[in-house]
Amino acid sequence: MIHANENYLKIQASYLFTEIAHRVKAHQDAHPEAKVIRLGIGDVTEPLAPAVVAAMHKAVDDEASRETFRGYGPEQGYPFLRDAIAQNDFRKLGVDVEPDEIFVSDGAKCDCGNIQELFGRNVKIAVPDPVYPVYVDTNVMAGRTGANSGGRYAGLVYLDGNAANGFVPSPDDLDADVVYLCFPNNPTGATATKTQLQEWVDWARGRKALLLFDAAYEAFIRTPGIPHSIYECDGARECAIEFRSFSKTAGFTGVRCGYTVVPKGLCAWTEDGSPVELRPLWTRRQTTKFNGCSYITQRGAEAVYTPEGAAQTKATIDFYLENARIMKEALRGLGYDVTGGTDSPYLWVNVKGESWAFFDRLLKEANVVTTPGAGFGRAGEGYIRISAFNSRENVEEAVGRIAKVLG
Ligand code: PLP
Repeated sequence: MIHANENYLKIQASYLFTEIAHRVKAHQDAHPEAKVIRLGIGDVTEPLAPAVVAAMHKAVDDEASRETFRGYGPEQGYPFLRDAIAQNDFRKLGVDVEPDEIFVSDGAKCDCGNIQELFGRNVKIAVPDPVYPVYVDTNVMAGRTGANSGGRYAGLVYLDGNAANGFVPSPDDLDADVVYLCFPNNPTGATATKTQLQEWVDWARGRKALLLFDAAYEAFIRTPGIPHSIYECDGARECAIEFRSFSKTAGFTGVRCGYTVVPKGLCAWTEDGSPVELRPLWTRRQTTKFNGCSYITQRGAEAVYTPEGAAQTKATIDFYLENARIMKEALRGLGYDVTGGTDSPYLWVNVKGESWAFFDRLLKEANVVTTPGAGFGRAGEGYIRISAFNSRENVEEAVGRIAKVLG
């Protein structure tokens, strides 16, 4: 008899977005004339940068000719892209990351999920709350947790992000082996200072723990001094893996490209205390289970680092950040505390009541869809997430409607 992996049965149904879709549909069925504006989505709305499109067209032509055709590429990514990443994303920050420490993939979601294959079954995992659910569910699938009770899994450590800690939990006397950190954060939009990240790095080095640093929203950082990479902290190469994505940086949510940095010398330990370097393990994992991101996609990603590509993608992010600024200013003007929205596409709004009740109010009275914070974890109750990924027209219209309802 084939036995199922019963860990999957512990996973809570993806209640959040299903429930949102259900409530929006019910509202639209009851009010077919209503023009609903969706500020709940985490997907980008602006098209690819022209420089990226041109590079991908050219790459298609490469594939169309015998002389320039490329078949299977290196599983870790083509040297042209790994070199461009090392140079532009790290060396320009004064950070030492070598091209062969960069593993190109089809996105940060897969990498965040797959990385835990490298760790022992019994490692103690700490996750933020509110949380990007991939960190949690992948560890549940791997059998590192007990059952879910009241929205939390037995065996996981939850790091609450709340107004008191500015949505940046600190390690204090945390007992964990692997810690997921995400800054700028999804869903709260919070950023961490260098001092705060250095505290995490020092903690991890002190107890041979590992930080999994998700920097998918790095490109939205505009405030000087906020770290773009965990490797800006002293000693981070000894205790951190970093995930990056072209999804929000360059509108690649549909194209699919990201990368993971696993520094040379970064180790986990065997049960008897011998060090095991993680980079060769990740190399083995990727070369065994992944066959590389497409050549055409990687040429598109490379173009993000050209002067035109960089200027065009920055302009798009500036556009989203201006959307965020408009919404943040309006909500603050209405008397709401708002986190994020300056170095992030997300606004985390304290709704002074229940998340779902506020969601319903904005849906029914303003025809505006948001995301209830409670859906991201227990610590998200009392908040909603608003996304800046939208047209200016929709943002302005939504702000006007919200002001009428809440004003
Ligand atoms: N990490 C975070 C925090 C995200 O919010 C997302 C996407 O929403 C991802 C990773 C996934 O990125 P990708 O599209 O590269 O898989």
